[in-house]
Amino acid sequence: MDKKLLDILACPVCKGPLVYKQEAGELVCKADRLAYPIKDDIPVMLEEEARKLPAEEEL
Ligand SMILES: [Zn+2]
Repeated sequence: MDKKLLDILACPVCKGPLVYKQEAGELVCKADRLAYPIKDDIPVMLEEEARKLPAEEEL
């Protein structure tokens, strides 16, 4: 994924920064513990599409 794109993306819930998890193909908001999927190189920045990260999952 394009690094420049990552720089302009923010969490739609808290407007905070996202961390790109390459191995999972997800963008993670640590504050909300939400993982946004990336489909066909397009980040899906929708709260209802995001995966809730369990407390035990390493961030
Ligand atoms: Zn957030």
